[in-house]
Amino acid sequence: MRESLPWLRGKIWPLLLGAIAGGAAVLLGGSGLFWGAVTLALAVALITQFITFQEPVLRPAVPTPDDPLGLLPPQTRLLLEQLPMPVMLLDGTQRVLFANQFMRDVLGPGLDRKRVSTVLRNPEVLLAITGAGHGEASNVPFTLPVPVERHFQAYAARVSVTPPVTVLLLHDLTMVRRSEQMRTDFIANASHELRTPLAAVTGFIDTLRGHAKDDEVAREQFLEIMATETARMRRLIQDLLSLTRIEMNEHVPPEARVELDGVVRQAVAGLMPLAAEDGIAMVVDSVPGLPPVLGDHDELVQLFQNLVHNAIKYGRENGKVTVSLGLQDGQLVAAVRDEGEGISPNAIPRLTERFYREDVKRSRERGGTGLGLAIVKHIVNRHQGRLAIESRQGEGSVFTVFLPAAREENGEKPATPEPVTEML
Ligand code: ADP
Repeated sequence: MRESLPWLRGKIWPLLLGAIAGGAAVLLGGSGLFWGAVTLALAVALITQFITFQEPVLRPAVPTPDDPLGLLPPQTRLLLEQLPMPVMLLDGTQRVLFANQFMRDVLGPGLDRKRVSTVLRNPEVLLAITGAGHGEASNVPFTLPVPVERHFQAYAARVSVTPPVTVLLLHDLTMVRRSEQMRTDFIANASHELRTPLAAVTGFIDTLRGHAKDDEVAREQFLEIMATETARMRRLIQDLLSLTRIEMNEHVPPEARVELDGVVRQAVAGLMPLAAEDGIAMVVDSVPGLPPVLGDHDELVQLFQNLVHNAIKYGRENGKVTVSLGLQDGQLVAAVRDEGEGISPNAIPRLTERFYREDVKRSRERGGTGLGLAIVKHIVNRHQGRLAIESRQGEGSVFTVFLPAAREENGEKPATPEPVTEML
């Protein structure tokens, strides 16, 4: 056992401090590289503490077939098993002394006593482990390509010289990488969406300055197209700003008591002229005396505007769009139903992705930005609700929003009222 820092011997507080700080680092930002590094460092400190100061805090372990070096008394095993990250201890011949559940989830079961090179075939990580055995701690990124691609930062360090023990810790960066990729894709998509109408407007300005200068008919026609394209850019920017605003507030639950019936009627009324252009009849099928929801009025109006607008855009000409409102198991249920061509089953899970459209041409022709349902999803999340999408090809689609009913002021559960249908 190492004779370092004798004043620490026998004291439990360094272990507790290490554990609390490690846990706090994970909670504060398990996804960030910085906190990842802090967590890794603390975890190594903690493991070293346990191995170095087993006595008299913990009784010394006795060598067993599972623990030939006698390094891992049950308490230490328990601690390593509980660490919220993949951890592995290796002996001087790079055989696995211990691997916790997180490590087994990454590398598979049955790791004990195997050589690390047979279970982890990444040359950089193996080199880092060898270096750590000589006292050079190192940090290397690596990727596991199968079964699903996962990205890690591997940290290898020596925790004991006699007997020789090396620790390997992995910090999972898959989510961080994924969100970086999503951000890059988002910027690329947004720029592409803006570039297309901008190119059209710029092209028409050049034409109007050039050969169409004195052609009154062409001028009117081009100005019309330019107006449509600039309106598209304006809608796109409005949607991008809405999305950012809603995302920023997503973790703050709204507190106002909002009557959903009024919200739905306001959203429908605003879209009546558009529905009339396509000869679409709007029906609100509501239940009087519904309890309110805890919500943000303007966001809820936007949510239903987006759903009803889609039902009009992708609905059947001269058909019907129905919005029904009811109460089910303490939840307000608002369903927007159209009689359009429907959505293919493969597309349904992707509809709320930003800029995802089943038919890009149709969406553009109908003035779509590809962000409407992404906005809906974030508003529903902020209201702790749920969105369900059902569709039958050739028959139509139903977008149903479930929102928890606000408790009555006296704290009681709301009662279920009777339905009423109304043609608008
Ligand atoms: P967009 O601005 O393109 O309408 P949304 O995010 O609102 O963007 O919708 C994404 C895609 O989902 C649409 O492009 C369309 O393909 C599909 N979609 C949405 N609502 C409906 C609906 N009621 N019927 C059929 N398809 C729909």
